[in-house]
Amino acid sequence: MNWPLWSKWPMVKREVSQAGGLLLFLDYDGTLAPLADHPSQVHLPMKTKRILELLASQPGIRVALISGRRLTDLKKKVDLPGLCYIGNHGLELQGDRLRHVNPAARACRPILGEIARRLRRALQPIRGAWVENKGLTLTVHYRSASAADAVLVKNGFYEALQPFLVKRQVRVTTGKRIFEVRPPVRWNKGTMVHWLMARHRVTSNAKEILPIYIGDDETDEEAFEALLGHGITVVVGSYTLLSRARYRLESLAEVQRLLQRLLAIWKRKEGKEDEKTSRKNLGAGRRGMAARRRAAVEQGLCGSPVGG
Ligand SMILES: [Mg+2]
Repeated sequence: MNWPLWSKWPMVKREVSQAGGLLLFLDYDGTLAPLADHPSQVHLPMKTKRILELLASQPGIRVALISGRRLTDLKKKVDLPGLCYIGNHGLELQGDRLRHVNPAARACRPILGEIARRLRRALQPIRGAWVENKGLTLTVHYRSASAADAVLVKNGFYEALQPFLVKRQVRVTTGKRIFEVRPPVRWNKGTMVHWLMARHRVTSNAKEILPIYIGDDETDEEAFEALLGHGITVVVGSYTLLSRARYRLESLAEVQRLLQRLLAIWKRKEGKEDEKTSRKNLGAGRRGMAARRRAAVEQGLCGSPVGG
């Protein structure tokens, strides 16, 4: 069971205001950018891009984009410095002064190449189905296939995969009108979220880092599960009741609104912190000046302090 996020907004707002830092995990397709028939037609709205840029520039906020896309593809789509980019469902990462590719996944590349060739042959006659080899994972897209053809895609997919599944050389996951072939490693968006959180706790001075994860697809459920009982998890879409996320939002426009609100809360919080620090510094300055003046009077260097 999850809650419409705005119905619990005061609680969410309080959690964010009290956090020492935010670790913001954001899925790309269907969460930040509207879905399209072909992945190349998916674009990040300018307004969302600007909010991401502002969020990433805030002290205490780290923004990590986490996607099933190939890392280089995701970077090209978003094109913002200072973000952490995670591609292929967590198998590759760049940012946070790091660059990492899962070694077991890297070793699986030749098998994926072979599977891609077989799948292309098998699915070639079906209209609206195509194979994308993303190096570390492989996706069969059939968004524009008819319902009858979708059945053919499914049959052709599992038939071609059978020998590799029997030998446990790969594993299969599903998503919105896609099938995915992954290396046989237990590493996914959830494990990557845990890993990055642990690393961030070590490298950051912030005591209480609040993870916030927003995603719309089955693969994001891995992260929602990993974060059960921790942080703020938000599923996006209209069929979300079964999700493991704590909250739900209906649309991408709502996600944009949430990001904007997070930014506003953080700016206000940082503003208050700055005010406190400058008041403290001003107080310390005054006390220091008074002490120096008293010392000077004692040494007969100048007259009595004002009012003394
Ligand atoms: Mg998505």
